Amino acid sequence: MISAGSIEREVASPGGNRRFVIRLAADGAVVESVLYRGDTLCVSSQVGCGVRCPFCASGAHGVARSLGLEELLAQRALVEARMDRLLARVALSGSGEPLHNHEAVSAFVELCRERTPASLTTTGAPLHHLARWLAPDGPRHNGLTISVHAGTEATRARLVPKGPALAPLFALLAERIPQTSGRRRKKTALAYLVIAGENDGDEELAAFAALARPLRLFVHLYAYNAVPTSAHRGVDRPRYEAIYARLVREGLRVRMSSEARTEDNGGCGTLVAVRGLTAHRDGAPGHERATVHDDEDACATS
Ligand code: SF4
Repeated sequence: MISAGSIEREVASPGGNRRFVIRLAADGAVVESVLYRGDTLCVSSQVGCGVRCPFCASGAHGVARSLGLEELLAQRALVEARMDRLLARVALSGSGEPLHNHEAVSAFVELCRERTPASLTTTGAPLHHLARWLAPDGPRHNGLTISVHAGTEATRARLVPKGPALAPLFALLAERIPQTSGRRRKKTALAYLVIAGENDGDEELAAFAALARPLRLFVHLYAYNAVPTSAHRGVDRPRYEAIYARLVREGLRVRMSSEARTEDNGGCGTLVAVRGLTAHRDGAPGHERATVHDDEDACATS
């Protein structure tokens, strides 16, 4: 499976993330994988992404193609060979919407289950595939995070343009979550990425809380990493903490972003299909940022 690709470059950052630029043998396409905390690899499921969330570098140029099973496995194998040890976990949270590559991703998750349990992050599109992942006999994942990022339909349509609308998404969750075993329910979560001026207002947060509260799932509250392909910006730390406190007061079980997710090198939404074609915040097109030393968990926020 290693022959499906090769590590073209590795960029390590002071925060500990190691980002691997992987060239795929089949057609020379490039994807990125990120190692964070030294034991968990965030892998990409597509070259680019067709959901085209306006805040995410991974979807800025649309999708070129989905990765085959061998190419998913190659990301894990190449990084394990480079580190000369086995990984503990993988997360399908890099470039791409995993459910747009449902067959290969399902097979990958099953193959990973024995020694490297796999989790995934999805916008929920298409809903019939999400229904499968929520079913008691669905793929045996190690975590399913559903990106919501909005409390109203208008904001959802703006931030997750090709994802399902909130009404059918929450209708499906309301139907399936009560039938989910306690263990699987604990491994299912919602995600809310805080973007200044888009979804950080009281009305939006209250609407999200009203949708999420009955499900009693954990909510990952992600801080936003600015990317050069987008004019969106995150909120400052006091506002982020105020939003966290607000959602907790609303009765939600909220977890804050880890430091690995907020790193420039491989943090949420920063992975791209072909980095050299994208202008970076601190440098000219084709140049890595000055703060990046050599490659890491550049997870998208799916
Ligand atoms: S956030 Fe996820 S779903 Fe949205 S464009 Fe980026 S990779 Fe695709």
